[in-house]
Amino acid sequence: MEKLLANQFALVTGASSGIGYGVAKALADAGASVALNYHSHAESAEKLADEINQSGGAAIAVKADVSNPADIDAMFEACRARFGTLDIVVANSGLQKDSAFAEMTLDDWQTVLATNLTGQFLTAQAAVKEFRRRGPTSVSKALGKIICMSSVHEVIPWAGHVNYAASKGGIQMFMKSLAQEVAPERIRVNSIAPGAIRTQINRDAWDTSAARDKLLELIPYGRVGEVEDIGKAAVWLASDESDYVVGTTLFVDGGMTLYPGFVDNG
Ligand code: NAD
Repeated sequence: MEKLLANQFALVTGASSGIGYGVAKALADAGASVALNYHSHAESAEKLADEINQSGGAAIAVKADVSNPADIDAMFEACRARFGTLDIVVANSGLQKDSAFAEMTLDDWQTVLATNLTGQFLTAQAAVKEFRRRGPTSVSKALGKIICMSSVHEVIPWAGHVNYAASKGGIQMFMKSLAQEVAPERIRVNSIAPGAIRTQINRDAWDTSAARDKLLELIPYGRVGEVEDIGKAAVWLASDESDYVVGTTLFVDGGMTLYPGFVDNG
């Protein structure tokens, strides 16, 4: 049976670790050729690219800082040079610089917004231009698919993390407004909002049993998420199986957004 993403070309930003790594692997397993963007850790992106190439797929690792327009241009050029075009772009790169509000530095604020919000703007803008340049193909019903990596914090306020929550709240309206603008061209833009997924970004929240127990109080489904949970959602959102899904945030959060604090009558 033909794989769901056969003959399609994908770019995943922030693919050297965590969710991006898991998404890139899942897209490759579903038959896509994958460009793995990394910012600082070439080794793990190059290792995953080697594994994909050795198992009969196609992959490259590409360095870029997603907040830098020149890097974005060079990254898309590298994708065109290797694959000819892109059908799927996952804007996943993100970081936290946590601080109580009054102590938060302007640099903490600007760095998080530059990567989490401006980085997705630059990535998605280059994707839209590439989809238009290439025009329709037979590999997908959509002209192209963009997946923004949001967070449950696009709707859940987060004290001590106003920069991060503002960036993800921004992604919600960025994604919906862009989806509305480009849907007539059959470009599908959607978000995935992960809950607590076991990666380096939130190691403190799960790497001791006390921290894990506290975290589980926020997760009705009773387990911490794994990057594979997000990878499966990304494959579906990138495929024709979700062809009528446009401008939606898919929460993959074990029920974290169900207000679990109200379970005993609030
Ligand atoms: P992670 O730290 O493992 O991955 C983040 C990736 O972004 C890294 O590979 C890092 O190199 C890359 N990155 C950071 N700055 C960059 C830049 N300027 N240019 C290019 N790449 C850059 O953490 P993760 O949990 O895998 O996070 C991935 C995404 O998922 C982020 O957008 C994060 O906000 C989101 N998210 C994570 C969780 C979670 O529970 N882990 C929950 C909700 C949302």
